[in-house]
Amino acid sequence: MITEQMQTEFSVMNRIKESALRVVNFLLEEGPLSRPEIMKKTGLSQTAVHEAVKELLRLGLVSEQGIGASSGGRKPLLLEVNRRQGSAVGVKIDSRGISAALVDLAGGIMDRSSTGLPLQRTEDSIIEAIGATVESVIDGGTGGVFGVLGIGIGVSGIVDTEEGRLLESPILQLKDISIGSRIRKRFKLPVIVDHDVNVLLTAENRYGRFCDAQNIICVMVGRGIGGGIITDSRLYRGSKGASAEFGHMVIDSDGPRCRCGKNGCLTTLASDEFILSEIKRLPAAGRASLKTYAKNAAAGNGQGEAQVAALIAGARAGEPDLQGLYHRWVYHLAVGIDNLIRIFDPGIILVGRETLETENELIGTLRDFLGSLNTLSLYSDVELLPFSLRQDGWNLGAADLVFQNTLRGTVLQ
Ligand SMILES: [Zn+2]
Repeated sequence: MITEQMQTEFSVMNRIKESALRVVNFLLEEGPLSRPEIMKKTGLSQTAVHEAVKELLRLGLVSEQGIGASSGGRKPLLLEVNRRQGSAVGVKIDSRGISAALVDLAGGIMDRSSTGLPLQRTEDSIIEAIGATVESVIDGGTGGVFGVLGIGIGVSGIVDTEEGRLLESPILQLKDISIGSRIRKRFKLPVIVDHDVNVLLTAENRYGRFCDAQNIICVMVGRGIGGGIITDSRLYRGSKGASAEFGHMVIDSDGPRCRCGKNGCLTTLASDEFILSEIKRLPAAGRASLKTYAKNAAAGNGQGEAQVAALIAGARAGEPDLQGLYHRWVYHLAVGIDNLIRIFDPGIILVGRETLETENELIGTLRDFLGSLNTLSLYSDVELLPFSLRQDGWNLGAADLVFQNTLRGTVLQ
């Protein structure tokens, strides 16, 4: 999170009056708006709005765009934020590499860059790779009144969001990396580090199809199982920032040993690791038919994705061994999601995978299993849906964490 010290480093924030920042935020949220509409929405007086808009026009932060509907008298001029007057860098780090995007105030991507993970994964090499990727998008130069407001980073693993530290990431094979302080030192900008699924959920709630939804749970199913929670339109982080570790919810206490030390965690029974280990135990006929389907299945991005695609294709074709494994996998997931529905009573559950093909099939089967597990009509209208934002969502969400904690955070709390 952004500390007070970082906030005071924000010279632009200190130069602009709070009332003017308030106007900017409402224009970003709901613009374009006329002066009377700004008065109504911000609760500021006519004089305060007049002064604020005058200052913002002088700075070039807003401009007059077109004419609004009249409520009797002269038609009012509409004001809009000049979106390119500020930006943030949104970074995503996962097993496929590092991607960065320079995002404008209204969520438009101005530039992007990506690189693979370093072969030797040390703190120095990973920080250098993140730094180089960020630099290549900032290099294009953004200028504007606000300039680059900060750097948001979404990373796969357990993150101490207060300190900006990646505590542990089995998928990235990294442990205890001071991402926040080291990237901040290099760029002299505020840096926010968060769990990658939180970042994607933030983007969905700001820019995606689900921006009006108040209660959303999301479950990412891949090599591990990650999650995120939005309650009352806000990301829920818990007291240590380590909430939504759905993958380590025990669904079978006699189940296999998990790397966390417990038995039968959801991740041991419903992640790609489960599928890969169960494939080895298939009877010879099952393994042979999986090979046939693997030849035609979409390869996806990783080993798990390719195997899951082949498994789904085989199950769909009615191969008994593959159908059995596919159904066991999805049933375990459904048991976990059914628990979440009863705890959180969400309106929407988003389910994500690396590729759309396996995601759509998985969601369809999950709906059937959840229907059979549900014993209460109360929960029958929970919507199970795919994410509406894909690759860009990670970068947009990471950048939005910066806007939330700087521009919007100063006045909208
Ligand atoms: Zn576990």
